[in-house]
Amino acid sequence: MKILFIASEMYPLIKTGGLADVAGSLPKALRELGKDVRVLLPAYSEVKAQLPQATVVSELHLLGLPVQILATTVPGSDIPLWLLDAPKWFDRPGNPYLHPDGTPWHDNDERFGALCWAAYRIALNQLGLDWQPDIIHCNDWQTGLVPALLSLKSPHPATIFTIHNLAYQGTFPKTSHARLELPSLLWSPEGLEFHDQLSFIKGGLVYADRINTVSPTYAHEIQTPRFGCGLEGLLRHRRQRLSGILNGIDTEKWDPGRDPLITQTFDSKTLERKGSNKKALQEHFGLPSGQNRILIAFIGRLVSQKGIDLILKTLPSLLEHSFQWVFLGSGSSEYEHSLLYWSRRHPEQVAVHIGFDEPLSHLVEAGADLFLMPSRFEPCGLNQMFSQRYGTVPIVHRTGGLADTVEDAIPGKMKGATGVSFEFAEAGALLEAIKRAWLLYEHSPTWRQLQRSGMTKDFSWRRSASEYCALYQQAIKDNTPMAGRPSEG
Ligand code: ADP
Repeated sequence: MKILFIASEMYPLIKTGGLADVAGSLPKALRELGKDVRVLLPAYSEVKAQLPQATVVSELHLLGLPVQILATTVPGSDIPLWLLDAPKWFDRPGNPYLHPDGTPWHDNDERFGALCWAAYRIALNQLGLDWQPDIIHCNDWQTGLVPALLSLKSPHPATIFTIHNLAYQGTFPKTSHARLELPSLLWSPEGLEFHDQLSFIKGGLVYADRINTVSPTYAHEIQTPRFGCGLEGLLRHRRQRLSGILNGIDTEKWDPGRDPLITQTFDSKTLERKGSNKKALQEHFGLPSGQNRILIAFIGRLVSQKGIDLILKTLPSLLEHSFQWVFLGSGSSEYEHSLLYWSRRHPEQVAVHIGFDEPLSHLVEAGADLFLMPSRFEPCGLNQMFSQRYGTVPIVHRTGGLADTVEDAIPGKMKGATGVSFEFAEAGALLEAIKRAWLLYEHSPTWRQLQRSGMTKDFSWRRSASEYCALYQQAIKDNTPMAGRPSEG
């Protein structure tokens, strides 16, 4: 089976979130299952700088601009990696989607439209690369036009569209449709049009042979108005083609038994050693050391999706107790300022690092006792899995991938429990959950059991990669020129 995997970010080359982790891991896991998988990524300046050996293998024009396809391999593997090199669009430092002032790049329609056209040409073996995929695996809105374009060609490879976050849809003014040289056949409310705008994500949702999200619960949730971001009707319409496959995590990189980024390695049998990491974390942040204070951590984007406002609401009342708090993240300036305010007021209890710091995130996971993820919605989420691997008990809102990966510790039903979860994304519910976790913490045998259950769970990509292979087979079966058209029930 030949698979072309298309993404707009990929760990370790460029990363803003979980999509990069998936793109960095899933192709490798598929390769281990013997699949011929290749990856297409934009040649951002940061990516090119890390891959000086990449060579030109194809030259073409996209949207009137001469561009090149560069070839190399994914770092640490023999997986072919193609880069769409178009300096006008991708030679920009920093975040792949945003201008340094935090607003989207003005030409994101052209940038990712060109990526989709390049994928289309590779899919149809038009670039002299001497390779034609059976499956095109698209990820998020940046790749959404690929299934739409391919739907007009018969025969064409089967298409999969994975939703990593439905909230980001890639909508642009109607004029983009012509500017991106999209066939007029695709412009209709049943096609790429969304409230008189061009919607990239609809290209994936309407036309892909199979759609999936990164957890089974999120696949159900997005069919409801609460989580569907206006697309719930379409998703309900396509429910027979919609499923969920949980992300795995990189269990080698995130292994407390041999993680070089933490102070003291440990495993489920040597949990007492975890304390050295707590001490190192406290020292790193200038918090008073001591094993008797519960250390609660948060890592992630500081946006309302992640429920950071709920944490800020519970913080004042919990500061009366001896908890310590460590926050690592960046995002909305309102939340950044609020966290910094609390850390200035209570430097002995609240520590904040604004920014993206991967090595530090390992020490935080290893050193904390509790990890908070009160996300309003969470397609999959990774940190709750990292936490369980590191014996750091997660407290999560029971939604999306958090519901699928954390087993709630209910009194009398502790077998297999790995964390604490709460039903409603409200500050009161979060506060209750933290108090419940506190009670569990006070009873060491129960706490150890919770930690050990989490540490021994299988979060590997092997399991997910096999499920993707089954989905690819389904997509090949479903691949008809009319896939996704309104007649489908
Ligand atoms: P999302 O993709 O919605 O941001 P995920 O939980 O799926 O959330 O993935 C986020 C990834 O980015 C995780 O690997 C997480 O550890 C990492 N991350 C987020 N913020 C930071 C930060 N400030 N420093 C280090 N790593 C971070």
